[in-house]
Amino acid sequence: MFEQVKLNYDYSDLEPAIDALTVETHYAKHHAAYTKNLNSFAEKAGVIDQDIEDLLGSLDAIQDAALRTAIRNNGGGFYNHNLYFSTISPNGGGEPGGTIGTAIDKAFGSFAAFKEQISALAMGQFGSGWAWLETASDGTLSISNSLNQDNPISLGTGKKPLVAIDVWEHAYYLKYKNLRADYVQALFDIIDWKIVDENYKKRVG
Ligand code: MN
Repeated sequence: MFEQVKLNYDYSDLEPAIDALTVETHYAKHHAAYTKNLNSFAEKAGVIDQDIEDLLGSLDAIQDAALRTAIRNNGGGFYNHNLYFSTISPNGGGEPGGTIGTAIDKAFGSFAAFKEQISALAMGQFGSGWAWLETASDGTLSISNSLNQDNPISLGTGKKPLVAIDVWEHAYYLKYKNLRADYVQALFDIIDWKIVDENYKKRVG
């Protein structure tokens, strides 16, 4: 059974970066639907008790092609939004310190360069998808983007996502309309680097 991450904030707490109605619709409708659908398809495929990262990393093991696609899409939607909603908070923003801050400087030269590069990937994602800060198992950071609900795990890259920038229109259209760049910029006001740092340290041991 897969469960939606609990929010550590109210729907309105991410304003002005993201408006309350967008957070509520995104979490209680879109994310809830991915979760419900994943549970339904995973039950049918006999993978309901798997770890979600193991499941997304071994989609080829699901024989039935329609079930495999449904679990790729809904499992990705479940996992990606759990990461998204748990790494943004009213306490977010600013520049990362700690282990993740040092690793970002090492990989990209500076936080400003990282922000510019991942924002460009988010802007360059045609249609619906995501931009990622991801880590290899040795802690090396990189960035990527992906279509629909794919992510570095389901794409078999061997990397694990740390920061998720949702560029589906449902993530920003109520407030930002077609201005995706303004939404991506605002998202940097709520990315909680303390949480990202904790997740990163767990990843690299
Ligand atoms: Mn979304």
